Amino acid sequence: MTENEEESTCICCGRCCRKKFLVDRGAGPIVVASDVYCDCYDVEEGECGCYNDRFVVASWCLNREQMVDQRAVPSDCPYAAGIEGYVGPVEATQEELEAYHERHKR
Ligand code: SF4
Ligand code: SF4
Repeated sequence: MTENEEESTCICCGRCCRKKFLVDRGAGPIVVASDVYCDCYDVEEGECGCYNDRFVVASWCLNREQMVDQRAVPSDCPYAAGIEGYVGPVEATQEELEAYHERHKR
């Protein structure tokens, strides 16, 4: 598959654009996805609001290879398909989300 073909397997679910944090559910730290999107994400449109310029205006944004290397996409993302042993972020529980928001209160 070419790079463009691989990129086109993205189903635009937006889950990789959510902020992540670590929790320990008793077996060591794991990465969980919060319900907070990247500042560039357009929630109403359900897509990145700066896609073509994302690597210029959003220094934290990752390309496909980086997303997989850094385990930023969920395990059922097409980008992780076929990668043996891949474990991506899981959904945070309500309690974990509440604690996350409490920590980030201004
Ligand atoms: S998680 Fe995967 S399928 Fe969903 S938007 Fe990110 S790259 Fe695309
Ligand atoms: S800048 Fe990157 S992380 Fe942020 S919304 Fe766009 S694609 Fe997602």
